[in-house]
Amino acid sequence: MSKVFLTALGCRLNEAELQRWAQEYQAIGYQVTQRADDASVMVVNTCAVTGEAARKSRQVIRKFHRKNPAAKMVVTGCYASLEEQQANEILGVDLVVPNEQKDQLVAQTQAVLDIPSMPAMATEPGAPAIFARNKERAFIKVQDGCRYRCTFCIVTVARGEEKSRTEQSIIDEINQHVAEGVQEIVIAGVHVGGYGSDIDSDLYSLVKAILAKTEIARIRFASVEPWDLPEGFFELFANPRVLPHMHLPLQSGADSVLRRMARRCKTQEFAQLVNTARTQVPGFNVTTDIIVGFPGETEQEFAETLAYIESVGFGHIHIFTYSPRSGTKAARLPGQLDNATKKQRSQRLHQLAAQLKQQAMQAQLNQQVAVLWEGSPQVLDNGLVRFIGHTPNYHRVYVDVPAQYDLSNQVLMTQLTRVDGEMLEGQVESAELPKTGAPILLQS
Ligand code: SF4
Repeated sequence: MSKVFLTALGCRLNEAELQRWAQEYQAIGYQVTQRADDASVMVVNTCAVTGEAARKSRQVIRKFHRKNPAAKMVVTGCYASLEEQQANEILGVDLVVPNEQKDQLVAQTQAVLDIPSMPAMATEPGAPAIFARNKERAFIKVQDGCRYRCTFCIVTVARGEEKSRTEQSIIDEINQHVAEGVQEIVIAGVHVGGYGSDIDSDLYSLVKAILAKTEIARIRFASVEPWDLPEGFFELFANPRVLPHMHLPLQSGADSVLRRMARRCKTQEFAQLVNTARTQVPGFNVTTDIIVGFPGETEQEFAETLAYIESVGFGHIHIFTYSPRSGTKAARLPGQLDNATKKQRSQRLHQLAAQLKQQAMQAQLNQQVAVLWEGSPQVLDNGLVRFIGHTPNYHRVYVDVPAQYDLSNQVLMTQLTRVDGEMLEGQVESAELPKTGAPILLQS
């Protein structure tokens, strides 16, 4: 039986694409393997969000070719789309599939690389995929591309115009995951708010359809640009299956910087959006991305950003230190800052972010919430085992239980009792704890 090895760098979207190709390869009789040295085909889904990500992509391609020179190597993703010629010249690469042809990747593998399909081994539609990165959660790519041109962004260049998947193909994929026991999906895309712009639909209608036509227990959103959200969007959260958290990239708290970034959402609109969410949805958690050290960022603008962030409050902040990305407008802007200044600002923002995160976690205490416990537990010196999961509003939480309990992939009501560093500590009523036959053979 032919085996395919799939790996990705970068964003959740690249993850979601791997999951779909795994299902497609199995449908033509391939076995999905987690071991590169065991594969006849290897697929690398590359990233190019920064120059460093592109360098890492080349490194990964070379690493897997060295591991298994006999296998056919398929390279795709943003690096392969932006540097197609260069990717083709890397030793061991047999096929480069640019982003706009990703939907045909498996078919191209067969056609161009003359890799036979094995109908006899093909999995039945709906048969369990053995690939899911974790059995609790699946990333669902609903659209690709973006019509906007933020000046720091290479993704819009690499992934092209907006393209939405049909509602039915998304529903079918989710129902397949539900059949495999997945409890939670994460709706992912490049510009998720733009879903449906090209097929006369929108994100509100899509989520309504998912709620009506699937049994998926929990629905989350990956990163969503804070604009183009359809009318009445936050009404969706009235359904407890739609979890009260959104990651809304702000990027800067100074309108003058947002203008140089060509961002569609300025500070006032952002505050209004967050206010609407918090008013309509109890316990709504907002997390965000901030770029520090954008070209021309003055001390005054950075002070504005800190003050604005403190005024809004965030459950978590991903902090990116600006680095020029060739092929973007921002890389050619005057006023590129020195690394020392960028580093110093990043440290100051990390301090504020840590403070706001503590405040957000403190506000969760003494609540009882439905936590999805994930993955395999960790053994503690005291013989207990520690499971980690996420609250509905996406705060990380752990619980320590006796080894005879297996909480993985269980949604259990959990009392949030203490803030412990970057996580909350939880307690699950003993009556709630699902017993296993024998103590779990645990990773140490
Ligand atoms: S909206 Fe997002 S994906 Fe689109 S150009 Fe801006 S940063 Fe890039």
